[in-house]
Amino acid sequence: MADPQYSFRSREVSPHQRAVLRALLWFTCSAVLCFAALHFYVGDIWLAVAELCLVAYAALLLYVLQEIERLRPRSLLFIVPFFIVMMYALASPENGATVFVWVLLVPLLSHLLLGRWQGMVVAMVFMGCAGVILARKFEVTPGMPGLIEVVHVILCAIAIAGFSHVYEASRERTEAELRRLALVDPLTGLANRSRFRDVFAQERQRFLRHKTPVSLLVVDVDHFKRVNDDYGHDAGDVALCFVADILAGRIRKTDVAGRLGGEEFGILLSGADIDYARPVANMLCERVRLRACRYRGQEIALSISIGIAELGRDGLDFRSVFANADRRLYKAKAEGRDRVVG
Ligand code: GH3
Ligand code: MG
Ligand code: MG
Repeated sequence: MADPQYSFRSREVSPHQRAVLRALLWFTCSAVLCFAALHFYVGDIWLAVAELCLVAYAALLLYVLQEIERLRPRSLLFIVPFFIVMMYALASPENGATVFVWVLLVPLLSHLLLGRWQGMVVAMVFMGCAGVILARKFEVTPGMPGLIEVVHVILCAIAIAGFSHVYEASRERTEAELRRLALVDPLTGLANRSRFRDVFAQERQRFLRHKTPVSLLVVDVDHFKRVNDDYGHDAGDVALCFVADILAGRIRKTDVAGRLGGEEFGILLSGADIDYARPVANMLCERVRLRACRYRGQEIALSISIGIAELGRDGLDFRSVFANADRRLYKAKAEGRDRVVG
């Protein structure tokens, strides 16, 4: 099966992280504001000021949250001051032992907002800080009264960190698999039509900005119905994978091959005008013609026809560039198949 030749990580898909960050920002704007008022009231002015700054920062982030594209760095830039203010509150002499229950939020929020590795590091750093503050504030010693409560809080925080880490690892795996399924043609492993169009859109942006040429090859297997009729549908599937492997294997890493539907494939040649694309297309035709596709000891003769169009010369959007390549593909069919027109 052919490898997809593109990164699945190019798009950040993290709606749940946005939702968690939004909830945390609302929490900061409401609950932390209440704490600020309370700390003013009891005379803990510096803590109240720190909390008010955090509230203002949260309100600002809430205002621009929808426009933020790369969420993780922004989450880090909020969660670190949030935890610093929390550590300051833990250290404040005005606050008793119960304030340490807030430490339980540290591993949970870190993992939900920053993912399993960054989340684990941030959680460890701030849980460690909280431990040091706790030990200094209450002069924790073996045998001191109330030690068992302290141990409970510490163990509970470590357990939450562990569970969050395991959960996040599994969630990340599931998300990666779902994203792969949404972008890949399951039979051939090439980009599916939707992913192919996304890549075209990216190439189009590059073309509009830097005038980098792009050529589109529309490839159709010749007389494929006969393959199914003569050898069976399974053999047809094997033949499609065979063609896909040749297409994906003979192009550069920066190019993309996709299955557009049925026995039709597309190839985007990045940085290639039509004069560059023509010999590449001819080479692909030759490869398919000359290499033997084997199925259960039989050899299936295959050939492909290719129509080429160039972005800019043949239109500025997918629809028109594709229409021109498709028109040339049908010219190639009409002229006898197993050839390139472009
Ligand atoms: P032409 O040279 O004009 O393209 O002829 P053709 O027989 O290739 O074209 P036609 O459109 O008549 O037939 C395409 C066939 O491809 C029909 C369809 O059953 C088959 N096909 C489409 N998708 C799949 C698939 O996933 N697996 C298999 N085995 N066959 C498929
Ligand atoms: Mg065909
Ligand atoms: Mg077809």
